[in-house]
Amino acid sequence: MENVIIVGTGCAGLTAAIYTARANLSPLVLEGKEPGGQLTTTTLVENFPGFPEGIDGPDLITNMKKQAEKFGARFQYSYLSDFEPGNGHDLPHRVKIDDEWVEAKTLIVASGASARWLGLPNESKLVGHGLTSCATCDGAFYRNVPVAVVGGGDSACEEALFLTRFASKVYLVHRRDTLRASKIMADRALAHPKIEPVWNSIPVEYLADAQGEMRALKIRHADTGTESELEVACVFVAIGHTPNTKPFLGKLPTDEAGYLLQTKGTTTEVPGVFAAGDVADTVYRQAITAAGQGCAAAMDVERFLADQE
Ligand code: NAP
Repeated sequence: MENVIIVGTGCAGLTAAIYTARANLSPLVLEGKEPGGQLTTTTLVENFPGFPEGIDGPDLITNMKKQAEKFGARFQYSYLSDFEPGNGHDLPHRVKIDDEWVEAKTLIVASGASARWLGLPNESKLVGHGLTSCATCDGAFYRNVPVAVVGGGDSACEEALFLTRFASKVYLVHRRDTLRASKIMADRALAHPKIEPVWNSIPVEYLADAQGEMRALKIRHADTGTESELEVACVFVAIGHTPNTKPFLGKLPTDEAGYLLQTKGTTTEVPGVFAAGDVADTVYRQAITAAGQGCAAAMDVERFLADQE
C-alpha cells in the first residue's frame, strides 16, 4: 500500500514530490506519457521567481526532479491507465500502472494538459513530416524556409518568436483579428520583422508534396470564405491544451472540458484524491501556479493522512 501516488512530473507533480518526500511519505511518482510536462517543450522561462536571467524549462524540471529524489521520491516511467476510487478510510484507491493494480492511501493527480490539434484530414500522417506542436523540439529543422504557427494565444506568440531564430518567415495564422495573448507577448510578436500575422484565417487543409512532406497550409478567410495557400515547410499548431484526465472521467468530477474540479484547496469530491496544476486549472496555467498547487496538494495529503491516523 502506497502512502501517496503522484501522477505526473510537471511543475505540480514534482513540487508535490519534493514536499511529500520531505515529509517522509516516500511518494511513488509516475512520469506518464510526457515526462517533465509542458516545460520540457519550452526554452527560456523568464517568469519563474528566483531566476533573474531566466532558466531553461528542461533545466528547471531536471532540478526539481533531483530535489525530489534527494528526499526519497521514487520515480517510475509508467502510465496510469485506470483508476478505482476508494472511500478515503478502509477502502484504498486503486490505480492501474502498466497492467498492474496498485493500492494507495492518497493520490495527487497532476497529469497536466496536452497540446491540441486541429483535427484536419491527414493530420496524423503529417506529424513529424512538417507538422508539429513543439517549436522547441522541431524548430531548428526548418532553417531559412517559411513556416506557419496556428493560434493566437501566448503559446502561439512564443512559438512564433522562437521560430524567427531559424525560419526565413513565420506566418502567425489566427482565426480572428485580435490576439488572445498577453499584451507583452502580442506586442513582441507583432513587432518582429520576420513574423507576418494572417488574420481571420481558418486552416482547412494540410497540403503535402510527393514525398509526403508539408508543402502548404490551405486557409479560408473567416468572413469572405476565400481560400488561399500559404507555402510553408512546417506548420506549428499552438491552439491550447486538453487536460489529461481520461482515466478519471466518470470517477472524479470534471468540468465540461474535462478539467478536474477541486472542492476546497486541492481536494476533489473523492476523499484522499487531490488535484494540482494544469489538470485542474483553467485560469492561471503558469509554471509557478502549478508548483504552488503541487505544494498545497502535498500539504493536503499530509493533513489527510494525519487525520486518518
Ligand atoms: P490559449 O490561450 O487557450 O489560446 C489558444 C489559441 O488558439 C486562441 O487564440 C484560440 O483562438 C486558438 N484556437 C483554439 N482552437 C482553435 C482551432 N480549432 N482553430 C484555430 N485556432 C484555434 O492557449 P495557449 O496559448 O496555449 O495558452 C494557455 C495558457 O498558458 C494561457 O493562460 C497562457 O497565458 C499560458 N502561457 C503563458 C506563457 C508565458 O507566460 N510565457 C507561454 C505560453 C502559455 P481564439 O482566440 O479565437 O479562441
